[in-house]
Amino acid sequence: MPTPFHLLLGVAALVGLGVLFVYGRGVIGVWLRYRGTRVVVCPENRETVAVEVDAAHAAWSAPPGHPDLRLADCTRWPEKAFCGQECLGQIEAAPEACRLQALLADWYRGKACAVCGRTFGDVHWHDHKPGLVSPAGALVRWGGFRPEQVREVLESHRPVCWDCLLAEQFRREHPELVTERPARTGPPPSML
Ligand SMILES: [Zn+2]
Repeated sequence: MPTPFHLLLGVAALVGLGVLFVYGRGVIGVWLRYRGTRVVVCPENRETVAVEVDAAHAAWSAPPGHPDLRLADCTRWPEKAFCGQECLGQIEAAPEACRLQALLADWYRGKACAVCGRTFGDVHWHDHKPGLVSPAGALVRWGGFRPEQVREVLESHRPVCWDCLLAEQFRREHPELVTERPARTGPPPSML
């Protein structure tokens, strides 16, 4: 038979769990929002830099809705590790727009593949990462660029889909398996 004390204990545990659930969701939400690489303009030299927000600090240091932002990394560090981190204003103003993946997804969406002409929809970064066509016409992957080069690269390159990138890689790695079909010459084959 539960005593009033046990009932009280049960209610307190439920309330505790509820508070933990709501608070935990808020903390995870802030962490998800601020993790990842972001591309901003350094207020000191007006050049594009890639930075990482300390997402764990943002999630734990302040109540959700008023996260305390600080940088965990910047491509100008360690030389400028003691800068004033004024670029955080850009991240506070538009946390999603300066996220590297969001920036790239926006650029691809609605464009046509430079090789097959297919229009890009939502990009699958984990398994079907698209690539680029360089100004010289070479098909290249994103792995060869640094994040702070992204704006420059997007201005000079054209988009290419994952299928075309893969086909090109196969052609390069197994030239012996690829046979170009020769153009047909002479009279058409007889129907008889
Ligand atoms: Zn294509």
